Amino acid sequence: MNARMLFVTGTDTDAGKTTVTAGLLRALEDLGVCSEVLKPVQTGCEPDAEGVLQAPDADRCADALGGRQKAGRTRALRCFRPACSPHLAAAEAGERLDARELAAACRRATGAAVTLVEGAGGIYVPLNDDETMRDLMQELGAPVLLVVGNKLGCINHALLSLETLLGAGLRVVGMVLCRTAALPDDAVERRLLEDNAVMLERLGAARGVPLLACVPFEPLLTSADPAVRQQGWRALARSLEPVARMLRNNGAESACSAPQAGAAEEGRRTDQDDARALLAFDHDHLWHPYTSATAPLPVVEVVSAQGTRLRLRDGRELVDGMSSWWCAVHGYSNPQLVRAMQEQAATLSHVMFGGITHRPAVELGRRLLRLLPEGLTRIFFADSGSVAVEVALKMAIQYQRSRGLDDKTGLVALRGAYHGDTLGAMSVCDPVTGMHRLFAGVLPQQTFVERPSCRFDAPFDPASLEPMAQVLERDHDRLAAVIVEPVVQGAGGMWFYHPDYLKGLRRLCDQFDVLLIADEIATGFGRTGRMFASEWAGVTPDILCCGKALTGGMLTLSAVAATEAVAVTIGHASPERGGGTLMHGPTFMGNPLACATACASLDLLCASPWQQRVAHIESVLRDVLAPCRGLPCVRDVRVLGAIGVVEVDSWVNVAAMQAYFLTQGVWIRPFGYTVYLMPPFIASDEDLHRLGQAVYGALHEGRHR
Ligand SMILES: *Cc1c(COP(=O)(O)O)cnc(C)c1O
Repeated sequence: MNARMLFVTGTDTDAGKTTVTAGLLRALEDLGVCSEVLKPVQTGCEPDAEGVLQAPDADRCADALGGRQKAGRTRALRCFRPACSPHLAAAEAGERLDARELAAACRRATGAAVTLVEGAGGIYVPLNDDETMRDLMQELGAPVLLVVGNKLGCINHALLSLETLLGAGLRVVGMVLCRTAALPDDAVERRLLEDNAVMLERLGAARGVPLLACVPFEPLLTSADPAVRQQGWRALARSLEPVARMLRNNGAESACSAPQAGAAEEGRRTDQDDARALLAFDHDHLWHPYTSATAPLPVVEVVSAQGTRLRLRDGRELVDGMSSWWCAVHGYSNPQLVRAMQEQAATLSHVMFGGITHRPAVELGRRLLRLLPEGLTRIFFADSGSVAVEVALKMAIQYQRSRGLDDKTGLVALRGAYHGDTLGAMSVCDPVTGMHRLFAGVLPQQTFVERPSCRFDAPFDPASLEPMAQVLERDHDRLAAVIVEPVVQGAGGMWFYHPDYLKGLRRLCDQFDVLLIADEIATGFGRTGRMFASEWAGVTPDILCCGKALTGGMLTLSAVAATEAVAVTIGHASPERGGGTLMHGPTFMGNPLACATACASLDLLCASPWQQRVAHIESVLRDVLAPCRGLPCVRDVRVLGAIGVVEVDSWVNVAAMQAYFLTQGVWIRPFGYTVYLMPPFIASDEDLHRLGQAVYGALHEGRHR
């Protein structure tokens, strides 16, 4: 039988082991996993009517299961009456406890899919004159969960316990921080307790041991009313759900202990070493996005992803709230996309696009022209969003040169814009958040106009176009194009502005003979509720960039679409004005594998009721994020399509928030002043609620500071 054990130990006698164990029992039950609690030694027992000693905590576990328990779900193997250390209680009864015998008895007693073995007291609680709980854990060889009582001094206790467990060669699956009493009234003391979670997460991560959950004090559990207590248990089970999922998932990979398998345990220990080595190499040698090489932010290892779930090395599952930066609209490992990739990889993975064409490129072109705003007819395939922006900017400048307007080379962009990280794209990113200062003297100087002041959800104010109108009127002789992210400004601040701004901008561009470039790399393919955000205004830009969700997040690919007028003007240029050639050609242009995947992704999208789904996500996000409005640190909550944004009043602490989100079983990566959600379109209501609750919880507990 594939029975699995988890040894639950604590930093202290009253760390909250019993609460966590009972809560886990309930969380596992809620996931449909049959589990039981086994107490090798129980002191402080009282005899029942028949004179048989009863474990005092059995009631608690029964209560946690709300009467759904079968007989024998909580068992104490050795019961003693005195409420003292096991070795004394046993001696008083004229008995002796032996680690090996206790371990053997535990193994014989396991019946359920998961057995939670709850130790008595801390790690060095004596069993007899020579042995302690640690010896029992070693004899048992089961993975260990360390419950840390959240009080002053607990970091010290937690680290001592961790070093001991790891030093004894035990596999520690993680820690749970548990508060067993109401929070103190004193604000400073409360702050210290909150900080314990952040510290534990960091210090644990450095030792390869994650903080799996934070269990707050649950006052409902002390209620005399069983119905109220059930609410408490449900809440407790929810905070422990990440741990329960990990136990369930690890079962599939049998990463939890099979009682007899010493060799398997050995293998698991090397697995943990390997995980640590991997993170160490990453830390020492690999750069991550927008991170220091020498003091990087923490990373977690993802081993697979399915649907809306990311699976971590240790078996934990996270609900994805990011779609991997706008890309994974269908979720992960979609079988249709996987099949399309496999077939294309086996047929023609790549071939140069110079002088050669292929069906995937042509098919993708056909599909894009059907979906793009009316009037865009020519497509250039590039390999990433930033490169698409470079191509679009070059296209605009070449267009003006082709017409003999050599002075029209300047670009206008909006403050708060984000268009990519290459030098040309950076030059049109917001000058402050885009770090222009770092590249002063290197970046081309562009013109910036204040970000559209008219909110998406407020009546349009024509005055918001005034700054743009002034710049175009004054400088149009030296301007090639205006570049904007239509309606939704993404990475530069997640700002949603009124579509009439875009309408007005289209008119201004026509009036002053300047091209309009729409960067739809983030907004394209349904994210805002329209296939392209330009549709909100019913305008066709002269040039449009798309990428990100184009392949459903499977591969990098982007496209630049242009109107016939732009393409023909460049194409008809005289030899001294470029001779009709667009000067760009990435090595992996039109990569067949990426194009075939994009075709499959667009087919999947178009065959799905994506409009309804996005509209539904929008309404659920509105509901789940609404409570954030009541928090003093929150400046704004806005939702459009499958994008939910909470803007706060200070620059967020990414590491602290990420640590908190991991304990909540969600993947959310905040940035700047915003915590935002852009889940895959297949997200369930339950996923969305978990994401929303995590955002609220983080801000409520002040984890963003
Ligand atoms: C992400 C993004 C880019 C850059 O795309 P990469 O593929 O990261 O180079 C450009 N513009 C917008 C609006 C984006 O969101």
